[in-house]
Amino acid sequence: NRQILLNSRPHGAPKPDDFRLQETNIPEPGDGEVLLRTLYLSLDPYMRGRMSDGPSYAEPVAIDDVMVGGTVCRVEQSNHAKYSVGDLVLSFSGWQDYAVSDGTGLVQLDSEMERPSLALGVLGMPGFTAYMGLLDIGQTKSGETVVVAGATGAVGSVVGQIAKLKGCRVVGVAGGETKCRIAVDELGFDVCIDHRADDFADQLSAACSAGIDVYYENVGGKVFDGVLPLLNTKARIPLCGLIAHYNDTELPPGPDRLSLLMKTILIKRIKMQGFIIFDDYQHRFGEFATEMSQWVKEGQIKVHEDIVDSLENAPGAFIGLLEGENSGKLVIRVANS
Ligand code: NDP
Repeated sequence: NRQILLNSRPHGAPKPDDFRLQETNIPEPGDGEVLLRTLYLSLDPYMRGRMSDGPSYAEPVAIDDVMVGGTVCRVEQSNHAKYSVGDLVLSFSGWQDYAVSDGTGLVQLDSEMERPSLALGVLGMPGFTAYMGLLDIGQTKSGETVVVAGATGAVGSVVGQIAKLKGCRVVGVAGGETKCRIAVDELGFDVCIDHRADDFADQLSAACSAGIDVYYENVGGKVFDGVLPLLNTKARIPLCGLIAHYNDTELPPGPDRLSLLMKTILIKRIKMQGFIIFDDYQHRFGEFATEMSQWVKEGQIKVHEDIVDSLENAPGAFIGLLEGENSGKLVIRVANS
């Protein structure tokens, strides 16, 4: 049983030796428990927060503990009345091959599901985040201009596609030409701007000639600086994530632009709202799941995944996620069946 542990707390960007691989015996399920075999492990930006012990909405991972994470698992042994051998479940069993569970928090999946990894992406937490943030907080209306960064990422790729379904003009922001091409040619965005370009702010401004009505915030940093002057009166900003800052060790250098931000919010009467998906919207998961699975089945929302083989590659893939190496929902294929 391979397990990946938190070896040390990173200062700035995580490094390979902040993780440690350990081999242990496969655990034995007791009465009322199941043995879970991990098939897919989701890698998500929030894990960077769990590696640090600063204030957050969730407890940090302890040093020498298994890294946390959402998984799709096969039930390999069962002493639990509700689960049988062969069942497919959504779990939160972390970066390891096997885990024992008493059933708490497990969600039964269709055991014949063709692409089980989708339960970690478009049909799971990131898809749900895109859906609620855009529709409930963003309150998009047909004809509006929506900007989303991380345009080819797990959340951003779904945000842009839903906004298109709702009749919006969608401007993506992504790192590099290849990702921008994917956003337009494969995901159907109207335009996509490379945030690494020297004239990023000018290109964004040219792409948003009618201003920005909804900015779905995934990154912060210089993307937000480019967006701020383009926001329309009564614009909405679902504040979903700030990945450009997750490795920061101190506040960025000045000038202090806080008063500019406050003034813009005031005079343009902008609504900016943070949210933590399962804390705020758990009760609406059913509504999302029904609509999204229909959209995916009909091909109205395209799936964009980045699947990396083998648990040992999880630390490297996670470090890459924070540097923009993934395109699509990043998932580790831990085992085949
Ligand atoms: P992604 O699949 O989008 O992967 C992360 C991407 O972020 C990278 O590929 C990269 O794309 C981009 N990125 C990384 N560093 C920077 C940077 N310095 N500046 C600009 N872009 C950068 O991740 P997710 O879709 O899973 O997550 C997107 C955001 O949503 C994150 O901020 C995450 O924390 C947040 N989130 C929030 C939730 C909530 O409940 N509030 C729930 C789920 C996610 P590129 O190369 O295009 O720049």
